[in-house]
Amino acid sequence: MFHVKQRDYPVRLGQVVDLEITGYTSEGQGVARVEGLAVVVAGAIRGETVRAKIEHLGHTAAYGRLLEVLRPSPHRVAPGCPHAGRCGGCAFWHMDYAEELHAKAQRVEDALRRIGGLEVGPVEIVPSPQSTGYRNKAQYPVALVNGKATAGFFRPRTHQVLDVGRCRIQGSAADRAKETVVRWMRACGVSAYDEKTRQGLVRHIYVRTAAVTGQVLVCLVVHGDQIPQENTLVENLLTSVDNLGTVLLSIHKKPGNAVLGDSFRTLYGPGYIEDQLCGLSFRLSPRSFYQVNHDQAQQLYEAAVALAGLTGKETAMDLYCGTGTISLVLARRAARVIGVEIIDQAVADAKENALRNGLTNAEFRCADASQAAAQLAAEGIRPDVIVVDPPRKGLDEAGMDAMVQMAPEKIVYISCDPATLARDLKYLTARGYRLTTARAYDMFPRCAHVETIARLVRADA
Ligand code: SAH
Repeated sequence: MFHVKQRDYPVRLGQVVDLEITGYTSEGQGVARVEGLAVVVAGAIRGETVRAKIEHLGHTAAYGRLLEVLRPSPHRVAPGCPHAGRCGGCAFWHMDYAEELHAKAQRVEDALRRIGGLEVGPVEIVPSPQSTGYRNKAQYPVALVNGKATAGFFRPRTHQVLDVGRCRIQGSAADRAKETVVRWMRACGVSAYDEKTRQGLVRHIYVRTAAVTGQVLVCLVVHGDQIPQENTLVENLLTSVDNLGTVLLSIHKKPGNAVLGDSFRTLYGPGYIEDQLCGLSFRLSPRSFYQVNHDQAQQLYEAAVALAGLTGKETAMDLYCGTGTISLVLARRAARVIGVEIIDQAVADAKENALRNGLTNAEFRCADASQAAAQLAAEGIRPDVIVVDPPRKGLDEAGMDAMVQMAPEKIVYISCDPATLARDLKYLTARGYRLTTARAYDMFPRCAHVETIARLVRADA
């Protein structure tokens, strides 16, 4: 990494430079090297020569604004979204899907090599079955824009709401629900929340759509205890959204970036929706995690089960299990499954999901995964397989120590952050495990995130 005083940088603020783009940042921006210094240019593609103006000198890189593409990549395409580059939601509309997949696979490979110190060959990436309209969850921030309540997405690196109209990666029901809520806000004079003054009512419009059943969950996140004209809102949603399953209010009075509040009130329907995944039926509450790309999640979970190599006799553990999706897919092929999850609504969903699918061999605990792992290890539980699917920050050492103590023959690690995955694989491979598989899954087409599945096998097994 390049660590020098900024006055020693080989480029100056305001300077216009021609650059050869050789790779990508983890956010999908182009990167060039100038005398070893990384120069980051959003919207540039590997292999291109671009002209950029240096606008920021950071601690480890300089940042240029793309002025002109002097030699375009054959992968450059006309963006399929009119908001590309102005909306912070997506990163890859300026290139074709093949190049996006290359960038993501390369990111995983680099992380495993550089951070994990692992000797891996080229990392394969499984394309998403759909690259538009695939998202089943939308979280639209709400703000007053030009005097009008507006919902959309944040502009890159800001909290300014951009009114996007139809979002290309969302299903159309989510946008329809959003438009209906915004119309209701404008008609009934309902205020938008302002993060700075902490005044105003509506913070977010959260919409989840079930891919198979088509049911729609709309949750209005408010900085208050109630909303005016509650019935009008529900009636409007019933008229405009097909298959409206439930409408909730989430009470959220704390500052900060968490989208949902802690308490919920159901305005219509049962407070949850139902979907099917890998042939099983799932109840989904707003607070429960559920993969946003249904069809790709199915492929990923099938891979997890295949890598677990179950024969029906095994005990499997599913740490960070959410609503029990992976646990229950495993339970069809294992003797016993123990799932651990920290969100109580998700654990309640997981228990209900086991019941509704008639899977009596899955049990769930509501706890911190690494504390539960230590507890289960102390109870003498020795699973044959542990599946982990943590949030971006990855595992902690106490949790991994407990996993090593339980000595499963296989560990299947599903990760949404290649850097923390690589760090954790380094830790586990130094403690008697061998990496046998690492494969990327494009769960988030057009967006910078990438999912990876890795399998470790006990070296003496
Ligand atoms: N395996 C599930 C969920 C994965 S997302 C699926 O594929 O659907 C990660 C999950 O970890 C979320 O449900 C989140 O609530 C949970 N989580 C976050 N921190 C946790 C912790 N410290 N202990 C246990 N679970 C945690």
